[in-house]
Amino acid sequence: MIVILNSDIDRNTPEFHRIQEYLETRPDVRTLVHEVTGTHQTVTEIYLIGDTASLDQAEIESLPGVERVVRVSEEYRILGRHRGDTRPSGFEYNGVRFDQDELVVFAGLCAVDTPEHVETMLRALRDHGQSCTRMGAYKPRTSPYAFQGHGKSCLPYVFELAGKYDIRVVAMEVTHEDHVDEIRAALERTGSPTGVMLQIGTRNTQNFELLKSVGRQREFPILIKRGFGITLEESLNAAEYVASEGNRNIVFGLRGVKSNMGDPHRNFVDFAHVPVVKRLTRMPVCIDPSHSVGTRDAGPEGLLDVMHVTAQGVIAGANMVLVDFHPAPRKALVDGPQALTLAELPYFLEDVTIAREAYTRRRELAGRMRSAGAGQP
Ligand code: PEP
Ligand code: MN
Repeated sequence: MIVILNSDIDRNTPEFHRIQEYLETRPDVRTLVHEVTGTHQTVTEIYLIGDTASLDQAEIESLPGVERVVRVSEEYRILGRHRGDTRPSGFEYNGVRFDQDELVVFAGLCAVDTPEHVETMLRALRDHGQSCTRMGAYKPRTSPYAFQGHGKSCLPYVFELAGKYDIRVVAMEVTHEDHVDEIRAALERTGSPTGVMLQIGTRNTQNFELLKSVGRQREFPILIKRGFGITLEESLNAAEYVASEGNRNIVFGLRGVKSNMGDPHRNFVDFAHVPVVKRLTRMPVCIDPSHSVGTRDAGPEGLLDVMHVTAQGVIAGANMVLVDFHPAPRKALVDGPQALTLAELPYFLEDVTIAREAYTRRRELAGRMRSAGAGQP
């Protein structure tokens, strides 16, 4: 059960203390207070954990300072979209908005290799009006002998160059909690020229200690990817692990799942699940067409499969696109065969715009269906 307080009530008000006193006298119920910072205001929520079945919802709703009470289902208590739950989704980070209505593209290098490639990539993004990128410093690889990423040594130039080209958020995978400290230290040393979204990769979706440690810090938002060999429910619970530690600035990433039937793509593309995740939770949903498709194959009309599946995800309402580009894919140290080139960048972005316009029109169609009473399950 979640008690949502009026926007003018916070921990320091007498109303808050009276509500807390009331709740603390209930047997077998524990409270957890959380402040949700939106674009215009901060709202205080009190989570009730334990034997909440016996609580009188109407009585709590009648307490001064309480706006409303939401009974949550057992699943995805924090991130779930519960019945009668109209709370807004998403968050803002370093001037960029992430929610279930926005769309942000993160094109960039799968793995940082040279400062020159980083700079060429970031300049192209700036020239095409982009404000976010992906840059891998810590690479979890299938083989222990493969290049593992430059690690912390590349962070200073990646962050400085991001700042130089007005890039506000860099999505960067971490595979150990020490990496978060290294990122924080490098940002401090370079004067925080940019922001970082911590990425939890598909191989770590159920690394619960890592999930809990990124959940405990509140500074960086988190992109958690679906595990490639587990159910969607298990992956959404992984996101809930992060949120349960305190950080709710979470984006959920679809990146395809392992399946022999996935041939000819590296993974079986699962972007049909974009609206499903948006229905089950309030998280913005990211698609990663590069790690889903894994090749530069194109359809007979000449559009790359990576572009086709991106359009499929965007037309279904995706909120973020994480995609591999490289100035010289043949020289890339990781995932060159799936990287798009800088010459392809403007076409890729135009295709995203086409799909997004179609999605906008489809939302308008949904509004008409709803007012006509059609389309209800
Ligand atoms: C990546 O985005 O660089 C990556 C390794 O992705 P995934 O965890 O989805 O394989
Ligand atoms: Mn990769």
